[in-house]
Amino acid sequence: MRFISSQDLHNWLDQLAQEAKLIAPVEMTVADRPGAAAPTPDGMRARFAAVSGADEIAWGYQRTAVSAREFLVPRTETLFTIETDTSGNKTLKEPVIAEAQVIFGIRPCDARAFRVLDAVMLEQEPVDTYYAQRRQNTTLVGLSCPAMWDSCFCTSVGGAPNAREDVDILLTAVEGGYAVDVVTDKGSTLAQTMTTADSEDMQLPEPELSESFAVPTIEQWLEKFDEVYWDRVGDRCLSCRACVYVCPTCRCFDVREETIKQPDGTLITRSIRTWDSCQGANYRVVAGGANPRAQVGQRTRNRMYCKFYYVPTDYQVEVACVGCGRCITACPVNIDISEVLQDVARREEA
Ligand code: SF4
Ligand code: SF4
Repeated sequence: MRFISSQDLHNWLDQLAQEAKLIAPVEMTVADRPGAAAPTPDGMRARFAAVSGADEIAWGYQRTAVSAREFLVPRTETLFTIETDTSGNKTLKEPVIAEAQVIFGIRPCDARAFRVLDAVMLEQEPVDTYYAQRRQNTTLVGLSCPAMWDSCFCTSVGGAPNAREDVDILLTAVEGGYAVDVVTDKGSTLAQTMTTADSEDMQLPEPELSESFAVPTIEQWLEKFDEVYWDRVGDRCLSCRACVYVCPTCRCFDVREETIKQPDGTLITRSIRTWDSCQGANYRVVAGGANPRAQVGQRTRNRMYCKFYYVPTDYQVEVACVGCGRCITACPVNIDISEVLQDVARREEA
C-alpha cells in the first residue's frame, strides 16, 4: 500500500487536469437546482463535472445527486450526421470519441455500476461502440466511503463502501492524506506520475456500516408476481422519472432524427440519442398506439424486474442495482426500493 499526502494529491490533480479531461464531484449551486434554496439534509449537494484543478473539487461530498454515468452515456449525443449537398450527394460523418478522461472521486458503488453497463452495452452483439470508446478512454480513481450514507444499501447487493474491484485506483482517506491502492494496469499507468511513499504499516479505517438485508432471489421474483402489490406501489408513483435519471445503472435511450436546412441549401440530418425512462407513461407505446405498460404499477414492476430479474437472467451480473440509494432520496413520494425488496423477500417467507 502506498501513501500520498493531501498536498501531493492536489498537485497531481492539477497536473492531470492539464493532460486529460478531469471529472470530479463539485458543489452544486442553486443554479444547478432551480428552486433549491438550501442544501438537502443528506449532503447531496454535489454533482460530477469537468474541473480544471483540485480546488474546484467538493472534497467533503458524500454522494453526488446524479451518478457519473453521463460521462460514458451522455444525456444527449449525436450518433451520426448526414450532410446532403445541393446536388443530393450525401456524406455520413460519425464522431470519433478519443478524448482521455479520468473520473476522480467516484464511489465504489458508482464504479460497480459500470459492471452492469459493461454487461449490457458490451457483452452481446451489437456492441455499443460509443460506450465502448468512452469506456476504453476512461480511468476511474475511486474514493472509499468512510460510512454508508442515509438510504445506501450497497452491502445488501454485494458491494462495500471500500470495495476496490471496479476502480482503477482506490484512495482511502487516512491522517494527512490518502492510502493509494492501485488495482488495474490502467491505474498503474496513471499512478506513475503520483508522488507516493511506501507505508507498509498504514492502518486503514473501517467504514461505518448500516444494517444489510437479504435481497430476494430471482426465483422469488418469478414466483411472486402479484399485480395488486405493484398497483399499490404504483398508485403513489407520479411517473416523474427522477428515480431513473439519477440511477447509475439505468441506460434506456430514445433515438430521434432532425434535419436542418442551411442558408446555402444543404441539409444536415442528425441522429440524436437521449436518455429515456421506463417510468414514463409513453415509454412502451408501439407504432399502432397500444401501450402494454399503460398502468403505473406495471411500469414500477418492470423497473424492479429489470434490476433484479431481467438483467441478471440475460447478462453476467448478479443484480443491476448497486444500492446507491439515489432513487430513494430523489423520489418525491418516498417510494423506497429497499422497502420493496424487503417486501418481496417477506412475501416469499409468508
Ligand atoms: S439504489 Fe436506486 S438509483 Fe441506486 S442503483 Fe439501485 S435502483 Fe439505481
Ligand atoms: S421518482 Fe418516485 S414518483 Fe418519480 S417515477 Fe420514480 S418512483 Fe415514480
